[in-house]
Amino acid sequence: MEEVNQQQDALTSDEKYLWHSMKPYNPVATMVVKTAKGAWVTDINGKKYLDAMSGLWCVNVGYGREELAEAAYQQLKELAYFPLTQSHLPAIKLAEKLNEMLGDDYVIFFSNSGSEANETAFKLARQYHQQKGDTHRYKFISRYRAYHGNSMGSLAATGQAQRKYKYEPLAPGFIHVAPPDSYRSNDRPDCPPDQLESVKDIDRVMTWELSETIAGVIMEPIITGGGVIMPPEGYMKAVKEVCEKHGALMIVDEVICGFGRTGEPFGFMNYGVKPDIITMAKGITSAYLPLSATAVRREIYEAFQGTEEYDYFRHINTFGGNPAACALALKNLEIMEEEKLFERSKELGAQVLSDLRSLLSEHPFVGDVRGKGLLIGIELVKDKATKEPIDVAIVNKVIGFCKERGLIIGKNGATVAGFNNVLTLSPPLNIEIEDLQFMTRTIIDALQDVV
Ligand code: PMP
Repeated sequence: MEEVNQQQDALTSDEKYLWHSMKPYNPVATMVVKTAKGAWVTDINGKKYLDAMSGLWCVNVGYGREELAEAAYQQLKELAYFPLTQSHLPAIKLAEKLNEMLGDDYVIFFSNSGSEANETAFKLARQYHQQKGDTHRYKFISRYRAYHGNSMGSLAATGQAQRKYKYEPLAPGFIHVAPPDSYRSNDRPDCPPDQLESVKDIDRVMTWELSETIAGVIMEPIITGGGVIMPPEGYMKAVKEVCEKHGALMIVDEVICGFGRTGEPFGFMNYGVKPDIITMAKGITSAYLPLSATAVRREIYEAFQGTEEYDYFRHINTFGGNPAACALALKNLEIMEEEKLFERSKELGAQVLSDLRSLLSEHPFVGDVRGKGLLIGIELVKDKATKEPIDVAIVNKVIGFCKERGLIIGKNGATVAGFNNVLTLSPPLNIEIEDLQFMTRTIIDALQDVV
């Protein structure tokens, strides 16, 4: 009885005091989660759910890892905080480790969130061009349908109108182009990369805007939050060549794609490019503590080593690179290596993709099943020939069916354009095989239920 009262009290206070992201308060749909272990979360009523979204695509090593809690605890006792205007060992070691994982010579700036990592990248890129005397380069190109964060710059880079509406004007200087979309656009996989419309468009926009005003492009290797939109294989490499032609930097947003989500340490590694700047967050600590990073090619870093005050990168972040977050991140990366989670993501992802494709090939509403590693999207359409997006009510019904059975999956797309029709999956990389089978089976059942 006392427990029931506690739950009631929690819900009453929740409604009264807690402002949730994205949605109005809904006492029926809101889950109050109490504990979690592995890929499973348990709510205050004791109901268990398989979290096939890893929270917000972030709990890559799964929940309840005591070694991570221990790493943070030990570090908090030894040194809880010191600003990175100076230095401390956990940040030094983590920067070294990230450099090793990136496979090239990068210098690391720490922040706390994906949005901040992207803001840092924009400021760095603009100042870099200034330092070199290239004083007109301030514009960034990004793609429609991509999400890059909630702050004025990273939201300006975002290409989802529904997230910007009522907050504009945002930071100026951001220009959007069409995303590469292997399912919906005319960019066929066999097209030579430099002939892809999505690549030629970036080239044209840079020319029309005047090359010497372009600071860079920002892109995720695979657009995640817009609905797991897969580029043709040669797209990223061709965009890098276009950037080089126009003197623009390539900034790669690895906030979701990084840390094994796509089966490689970083998503760009699937596509054979070397970005100039790489931003990362979420999986860096598997979201156990806030931390993000902006990795910059050494040559860019070196342009900031002048002796005048305005030669420095005058950007300060109080909490960025907190020692406990860095110590925890190091432990998290150690777990990923020891348990071979990147390889696991690649293998299990390929298996799930192939299972879903064969089991859903005849389904009248399943237009496309796609992804890389344990990053998967299922695009639902009214009609496979016209590809008209299915009504969101049906998508919600599928999600509701799964939730009822104890499975959390995501939904992404672009509400303004009537596209909110992609079911998304991004489970912890250490998910058990039988849990993946439960996930696949439940999704199939849910999709059968709406026919
Ligand atoms: N970039 C991408 C690709 C993201 O998915 C997100 C968050 N979902 C961000 C940036 C912003 O990260 P944060 O919410 O930590 O600011």
